[in-house]
Amino acid sequence: MLWTTLGFLLMTALIAVWHVRRSAKSAAPRCPRCHTVVPAGATRCTGCSAPLQAYEVVEAKEATGEEEGGGGRPHAIVRADLCVGCSTCVDACPEEGALRMHGKLAVVDMALCVGHGDCARACPVSAIVVTTGGSVQRVEVPRIDVNFQSNVEGLYIVGELGGRGLIKNAINEGRLAVEHVVATLLTRAERNDDPYDLAIVGSGPAGLSAGLEAKRQGLRYVLLEQGSLADSIRKYPRHKLLLAEPISVPLYGDLWISDATKEALLKAWEAIIETTGLQVRTESRVEDVRRHDQFFELVVGEETLRAQRVILAMGRRGTPRRLGVPGEEGDQVFYDIVEMEAFAGRRVLVVGGGDSAIESALGLCNQEGCRVVLSYRGEGFRRVKPRNLEKLEKAVAEQRLIVLLQSEVRRIHRDRVELEFQGTLREMPNDDVIIRIGGEPPSSFLGKVGVEMVNKDIPLVGSEV
Ligand SMILES: Cc1cc2nc3c(=O)[nH]c(=O)nc-3n(C[C@H](O)[C@H](O)[C@H](O)COP(=O)(O)OP(=O)(O)OC[C@H]3O[C@@H](n4cnc5c(N)ncnc54)[C@H](O)[C@@H]3O)c2cc1C
Repeated sequence: MLWTTLGFLLMTALIAVWHVRRSAKSAAPRCPRCHTVVPAGATRCTGCSAPLQAYEVVEAKEATGEEEGGGGRPHAIVRADLCVGCSTCVDACPEEGALRMHGKLAVVDMALCVGHGDCARACPVSAIVVTTGGSVQRVEVPRIDVNFQSNVEGLYIVGELGGRGLIKNAINEGRLAVEHVVATLLTRAERNDDPYDLAIVGSGPAGLSAGLEAKRQGLRYVLLEQGSLADSIRKYPRHKLLLAEPISVPLYGDLWISDATKEALLKAWEAIIETTGLQVRTESRVEDVRRHDQFFELVVGEETLRAQRVILAMGRRGTPRRLGVPGEEGDQVFYDIVEMEAFAGRRVLVVGGGDSAIESALGLCNQEGCRVVLSYRGEGFRRVKPRNLEKLEKAVAEQRLIVLLQSEVRRIHRDRVELEFQGTLREMPNDDVIIRIGGEPPSSFLGKVGVEMVNKDIPLVGSEV
């Protein structure tokens, strides 16, 4: 009897220990890609080397029910995982001391922050959220899995288009997606071009990283870019300092990144492309992607290309509508304004008749020494918010802004523009041109190719005092 009881107790203890071990093991953090158990706080998987932070949005809970509100006083939260430390928010905040830099991180002083939100609007990498105490940020993102494959099988989404900013994240995701393409591609293309193994859309950091990995793995690939190489970054303000954040995230890809000016970064990338022989087809806008039997068809102007797999690395700036005039490819031409201050002291022509053109012109005429002319081919601003029209009329009355209605740009030169105005062609000394005449946002492109969007709740890891 005693032995039976002891035997029974021993068995129970062993089962209990086994159970505890098993639940501890199942609770242990695992790599979302290869399921290896990883040490708590690890930044890279010890099994497949994947940078674990890459799965932050993919692994985030799908949002259900009402957005969580704290009901507290509105205040800003800086997402420590996204802040690059550029201090644009500090300059934008009207409350002295409410935001300050702590090394490379912007920190909110809760006692001084009143929740204006100017900081969030100014932040180039969307790292700031104004909340009333909620612990999550609700974001709408494409439905993708841990391999960055969307609900459309064989179609991948990487970089900022997938909902997460920052150059390093884009580089990491580009490579991770190609590794899955390589692992799942049953047959490789016989000949060089039709169909390709892989088509990559966009030559920003995500697309270039994917291209470098595709080349390294010997895939038949085509890399298509609507503008020039790394067009979004090329359009950033001159000498813009780009910061290789987050430092804690390991780089997983062959594309170089370090704190550098935009010019130095682009030069380094051009050198890598030259050395590796990576082929980038610029001025090749992908207008549509359709699934056809086991292939994808990509519409690029008059051409239709076929590929077994597609990676969309198109960023979130979409495809701006162009004027189609000579000189428009110059680096003094912008389709978006990411930092108003960069235009202080410049002669700027803004083109367009909608709210975004008026808001750009109004923002620019607040910059020290900035001379602003707003050119619109229409007879008047019909489709704009009344308050924008009011502000515009006030700025014109105060001679802070010149409006040229019924005018059209005919040619853009480095130091002047040719404008058709009141029936005559005139030349106007000018430095920069901002074209805001609409465009196709990435969300409508994704909708067109069948990608589903989901709401996700991203836990907010803020930096407040
Ligand atoms: C002002 C500013 C400062 C920033 N500073 C930093 C920083 O310091 N550090 C940092 O890490 N991040 C910074 N970022 C964010 C960073 O630039 C982005 O997160 C990163 O560029 C995203 O890379 P991506 O490859 O996903 O997209 P993008 O770089 O946007 O590239 C997408 C490419 O796809 C092309 N494309 C789009 N549609 C099509 C189409 N239909 N056909 C063909 N091509 C297409 C575009 O022309 C573009 O070249 C900053 C952003 C801004 C705006």
